[in-house]
Amino acid sequence: MPSDGNMSKANTQTAPRCSFCGRSNALVGHLIAGPDGANICDECVGTCQQLLARAEGEEEALPKVRAPAKRKSVNANTNEEAPRKTSDGMAVVENKPTPPQPIKLVPPAEIRAVLDAHVIGQDQAKKTLSVAVYNHYKRLNSMLDNESAQSGLVAEFASVEVEKSNILLLGPTGSGKTLLARTLAQVLDVPFAIADATTVTEAGYVGEDVESIVQRLLLASDFDTKRAETGIIYIDEIDKLALKGDSPHTSRNLGQGVQYALLKIIEGCQCNVPPQGGRKHPEQQYVSVNTSNILFICGGAFVGLDEIIGRRIGTKFLGFELASKPGGEPLGAEQIMANLQPEDLFNFGLIPEFVGRLPVVSALSELRQKDLERVLLEPKNALTKQYQKLFAMEGVKLTFTPDGISAIAKKAIEMKTGARGLRSIIERMMLNTMYQLPQRPGTHEVIISEAMLLEGREPEMLGKN
Ligand code: ADP
Repeated sequence: MPSDGNMSKANTQTAPRCSFCGRSNALVGHLIAGPDGANICDECVGTCQQLLARAEGEEEALPKVRAPAKRKSVNANTNEEAPRKTSDGMAVVENKPTPPQPIKLVPPAEIRAVLDAHVIGQDQAKKTLSVAVYNHYKRLNSMLDNESAQSGLVAEFASVEVEKSNILLLGPTGSGKTLLARTLAQVLDVPFAIADATTVTEAGYVGEDVESIVQRLLLASDFDTKRAETGIIYIDEIDKLALKGDSPHTSRNLGQGVQYALLKIIEGCQCNVPPQGGRKHPEQQYVSVNTSNILFICGGAFVGLDEIIGRRIGTKFLGFELASKPGGEPLGAEQIMANLQPEDLFNFGLIPEFVGRLPVVSALSELRQKDLERVLLEPKNALTKQYQKLFAMEGVKLTFTPDGISAIAKKAIEMKTGARGLRSIIERMMLNTMYQLPQRPGTHEVIISEAMLLEGREPEMLGKN
């Protein structure tokens, strides 16, 4: 049995081999990986067992070592056998592309109603998303429902394949892109995962592999592969992958490479995911997830896109003159959507193949003062309601005066972080009060007013203290 260090070195460079008998993984049943690229095959394990048993005089008690059998990996969901290795020798718990689980269809108007309860404004995006998501799950369910697919009107279109409609959301930071995607997943009761495009790298670079995006969804589905395959993935900061104007178009920059890497999972592929996380390595077992029915929603701020649109359509366009002036008003969502062409996204720096895989596009508007005030007060989980609940747990009524609400919204506008900044503003205002409150049992009301922000005063605490 060769057992020198060279063998383990070779193992890391070529297909994995047993470090004891030297046979490649194709010639053995199981290959068990150890540290530093060392492996042992099932036969050698058996031989070792026999040696040990012989040493202890127990050889008779042990079963005979079987000839190497083809290893069978079995999918926990389907109980089906699966190919045992990828081309590069990685073990895969294969999940054959079997039909996904049906999803309860929610009509667009109902989806929209739930979105309205959570998200302020963004009417056009809500409508577009409700229809796109409804169609996506209708398509998915139709793959299962053979009876209706073979009868009536649908039968005429039996050979027509409805393609997946992934979604691109354009909108400033803190305008509700992630919130919309998350709420959609809640309405449909499907698993949901968020990924940040800027942390993903092409294979071989330092960073996360593209597969890690799918892995998050698998985690959100408690490793139920079938459920993961019907989920929604939101990829944020997709605009940061744009090919920068100053990089030569002939050489692919990093972001462009990630766009290429993302193409395959967005379109639909069998994706081998390391269940424990981290980067792939040959000794790991993989779960195979089919991404064909996963809905991808990509979002980004796309700063400067309005200027690209404006340049194309010329200064005659209503609104562009404002956009083109330094410090001028950016184009609103409706103006962008009324004029956006795929070529604008190409010019922004997305590759045409990538744009082609995101056929549903919607834009969100920047939230203005009045919208931010509504964000503070109206949604089901509005921030003011959350703090009021926290204070109620101390037996204290928390009151936000109307001028206090306006001042918080105004401050968020100054910060240019959309609704994202609201929480940190309130958190800062309330810190001392929340620190002191448990020690002041006589307090029955705390009032938040404009003076807190303008004059830096502490919130008013009413009661016997
Ligand atoms: P982004 O557009 O950058 O993805 P998010 O959806 O993550 O923004 O929003 C950040 C936070 O701001 C959310 O958790 C939510 O509380 C709030 N928010 C943003 N937009 C809206 C909106 N239109 N309606 C209600 N809340 C919003």
